[in-house]
Amino acid sequence: MIEIQSLEKSYPMGRGTLQVLKGIDLKIEAGEMVAIMGSSGSGKSTLLNVIGLLDDFDAGTYSLGGDDMDGLTEKRAARYRSQYLGFVFQSFNLISFKDALENVSLPLFYQGVPRKERQKRSSEMLGRMGMEDRQHHLPNELSGGQNQRVAIARALIANPRVVLADEPTGALDSTTSNEVMQVLREVNQDGITVVIVTHEEDIAAQCDRIIRLNDGQIVRDPSQPGRPAEDSADV
Ligand code: ADP
Ligand code: MG
Repeated sequence: MIEIQSLEKSYPMGRGTLQVLKGIDLKIEAGEMVAIMGSSGSGKSTLLNVIGLLDDFDAGTYSLGGDDMDGLTEKRAARYRSQYLGFVFQSFNLISFKDALENVSLPLFYQGVPRKERQKRSSEMLGRMGMEDRQHHLPNELSGGQNQRVAIARALIANPRVVLADEPTGALDSTTSNEVMQVLREVNQDGITVVIVTHEEDIAAQCDRIIRLNDGQIVRDPSQPGRPAEDSADV
């Protein structure tokens, strides 16, 4: 599903550049549930944003569902995002003046789905998230865990093949975090590939595979057991 080779990415900094991803090799099969771990600043969000076509890369290759993602126009990137990908963020990124139902239906609005069908599908999706009785609540009328359920419903509404979650439990208490992880596990059981960035060991332990990133390099990945960097890795 996701195949990355020798991927590099830097950001401009002062007069020079800051190299953030330093040769990433990563393969994620369809249907996997993978955690990306690493300390703050190790490049986890940058990697997830490249995978999510929210950011471009400087060198290497990236193929998504067998298609080469190098040098996409913004228009084609947007099309791949809406066809393949769903996003979940630490801070939910819901629209504050829209209720749960409207937030969930937004991706369908952009796809030109008629209003009645948008409402029906969004209502069903909120039901699957255990939120049937909260459809007309605004984000500030919902708890953190409920808002994250709305955000997950929004990520799923257009039937993505991959869900990318950046610290999805970072703003939640541990009980609520585990509930959100349970929801993401169910999403994965429906066959959707799930990639979760986290710095919490107990969250990562609920995934099937843990990839560790340190200073822009993968230092541990059970799918690549012989990595030379593994011996020196202490993360
Ligand atoms: P993580 O998610 O692991 O904490 P990030 O991928 O967000 O790490 O950041 C990795 C490094 O890249 C950090 O040093 C950060 O300051 C830098 N960085 C991230 N995004 C940008 C950006 N848009 N412009 C410049 N530097 C950035
Ligand atoms: Mg981050």
